[in-house]
Amino acid sequence: MAQGTEAGARAKEVMEAGGLVSDEIVIAILDDRLDRPDVARGVILDGFPRTPAQAEALDDLLARRGQSVSAVISLEVDDAAMVERISGRYTCATCGEGWHDSFKRPETPGICDVCGGTEFKRRADDTAETVASRLAAYHAETAPLIDHYRARGTLERVPAMGAIEDIAQALSEIVRRYETA
Ligand SMILES: [Zn+2]
Repeated sequence: MAQGTEAGARAKEVMEAGGLVSDEIVIAILDDRLDRPDVARGVILDGFPRTPAQAEALDDLLARRGQSVSAVISLEVDDAAMVERISGRYTCATCGEGWHDSFKRPETPGICDVCGGTEFKRRADDTAETVASRLAAYHAETAPLIDHYRARGTLERVPAMGAIEDIAQALSEIVRRYETA
C-alpha cells in the first residue's frame, strides 16, 4: 500500500471496508514485490501459502515469472506443544525482542535484557482458545499442502520439538543448501 502500487490500492480499498484481502490481490502484491532487486537471489515466504488454492496460485505466478519454489520447510510440532509455545510468547514493547513464559525469560523478571524496557505486549490472538481454533484451521486448510509439496519433491520436514538452537541449526543448513551464489 505504501508503495502506491495498483495492487496496494486494491488491498487498501478492501481493508478499509473491513474485508479480507483476496488471494488474487495477495498474489498481485507478491508479483510486484518479487520485481525488487533485494530479492534477486531468492526469498523466504513465512506463513504463505496457507491453503491449496494459494499454493496453486503461487505455482502459477512463479511459472509466469520463470521461477519455482525450491523448498518448503515444514516445522513439525505436536498440537499441545504448539499451544504452549504460542500462548506463552510476548514481546518487548520498546525494542520488539521476543520472549516466552517458559522458554526464553528475561534475566530479571519484568525487565528486557536487550533494552531495559519494562513494557511488554502479547498478540490478542495468542490465547489458548484462539490458538486451538487456529490449529483446527491449520489441519483443515494448511496441512494438505504437505502432500502438495511432497508430490513435487520440494518438502523438507524439520522435527521441531527440540531446543531452539537445534531447530535454528537445522533451518540454517536447509537454507544454505538452497542458497544461490
Ligand atoms: Zn527491549
